[in-house]
Amino acid sequence: MPRRFRAALALALLAVAAPPGTVPGVAAQVARTFTRQDTLRGTVGPERAWWDVTFYDVHVRVNPSDSSIAGWNGITYRVLEAGREMQIDLQPPLEVDSIVLEGRRLAYRRDGNAFFAQLPAPQRAGERHTVTVHYRGEPVAANRPPWDGGFIWRQDGRGNPWVATANQGLGASVWWPNKDHGSEEPDSQRIAITVPTPMVNVSNGRLRSSTVNEDGTTTWEWFVASPINNYGIAVNAGSYAHWQEVYDGEEGPLTLDYWPLAENEAAARRQWAQVPLMMRCFERWFGPYPFYRDGFKLVEAPHLGMEHQSAIAYGNGFANGYRGTDLSGTGHGLQWDFIIVHESAHEWFANNVTAAESGDLWIHESFANYSENLYTECLTGSKEAGAAYVIGTRTRITNDRPIIGAYGVNDQGPGDRYYKGGNVLHTLRQLVEDDERWRQALRGLNREFRHRTVSTAEVEAYLSRATGIDLTEFFQQYLRTTKVPVLELRREGARISYRWADVVPGFDMPVRVSVGGASPQWIQPKQGWQKLAAPATATLTVDPNFYVDVREIGP
Ligand SMILES: [Zn+2]
Repeated sequence: MPRRFRAALALALLAVAAPPGTVPGVAAQVARTFTRQDTLRGTVGPERAWWDVTFYDVHVRVNPSDSSIAGWNGITYRVLEAGREMQIDLQPPLEVDSIVLEGRRLAYRRDGNAFFAQLPAPQRAGERHTVTVHYRGEPVAANRPPWDGGFIWRQDGRGNPWVATANQGLGASVWWPNKDHGSEEPDSQRIAITVPTPMVNVSNGRLRSSTVNEDGTTTWEWFVASPINNYGIAVNAGSYAHWQEVYDGEEGPLTLDYWPLAENEAAARRQWAQVPLMMRCFERWFGPYPFYRDGFKLVEAPHLGMEHQSAIAYGNGFANGYRGTDLSGTGHGLQWDFIIVHESAHEWFANNVTAAESGDLWIHESFANYSENLYTECLTGSKEAGAAYVIGTRTRITNDRPIIGAYGVNDQGPGDRYYKGGNVLHTLRQLVEDDERWRQALRGLNREFRHRTVSTAEVEAYLSRATGIDLTEFFQQYLRTTKVPVLELRREGARISYRWADVVPGFDMPVRVSVGGASPQWIQPKQGWQKLAAPATATLTVDPNFYVDVREIGP
């Protein structure tokens, strides 16, 4: 999703001091107030662990006239181990009508956002079953989508109804029943949305059919042939125009489908011409677009944007930059459309490689943020321009909380997942000092973890392997503490001495410096003082591509 710029007040108010007894230099998970509902949502508890979803079959009737919905989801799952109770998430005020397992109504109890259904008999490992949840109600209406999400009931400029969903963080269970945890992706999914005729609904994957019903509605049946994260499933219903082009990509022809509001078609044809360039750049850096079978779509939405898989939601006003502004302050951000670039990058990092835990959402946002840097480089042909962009965004880093959030509680995490994350990856590129190797590492992540959910540990281990650098302390420092490494300089006697301060034990990252105006050289500071072969009066500048601070200390 795009980053929002007002302070996350609600989150800030929840934060309290770090608990005592933490490892020196490592700001442990900041203790925060989480509820039982957060745990039910964010943990794979016993009522979730025994079954694995293979297919979601979602059918929803959307009624703009009274802002209500009604439908069902057939959940096909594989039994991993014997289980008796099943947790299915669906948020109030939606109500379950019935939960049916192969023709039998199940007894269930509700605990807030979760329903617990009792199986009549134990199911054995390896079996496949389908449980169907029928439900209805007026779903939560989004206050400030996409950040404060839910259903969005609007009208377009011509007075036609325009309806969409955005529910990252809040969860897909705000409008359809599912196992609402990042670690769970079905192998495929149907999304059949019924709306009043002549509204057009655009969801994920490919359109299989549109059926005009006798009651004045039309059912739009979409099918996703790949694993998909729950929050990526979306309704976009309105008065849409449509065109398609075929892109000649790394894996052959890739359909690019465009769905702007009919009233904005001309603007969209102009602005969305950036898509093939984006695709070229990201296929080069990240590997083949991960969903050739499902195609790529850009869909106009009544909110800023969201990485809905194979149906990127767009609401950036058909202008370059982030709502017309440049987040980096360098001017480079005005050369391209932030939402096209950032949200599409999520097709690789978020939709292809998906964090299993919301505490690890940096895997989505840090790489998407970093993609803005790479895209600037692709577009301008200038590595310096890309670097200037990412360095320019450093003023937005707050270092208020570690990038990795709390585990097990659906923690949405800090804004530093964006700009700090992008700068950490940019720093890593310097350490690799070999752009082809770095590119292969990024492509390798997408190949190794294709269509999978992953943990930070897996990403760390892969990057250490692919770059040939032990990155244990590097990631420990940048992901798990709020401290920026400080290169301390002491001018004592005839020489400059240097060392790392504010770092985790064992942190010894090399860094490029220029001494006395000479060409850059590498030094490898450690946590004890070392002397540089340069007079104490020499100037020393650190390569600005490294996200570090410098501190001159007295003798
Ligand atoms: Zn994002």
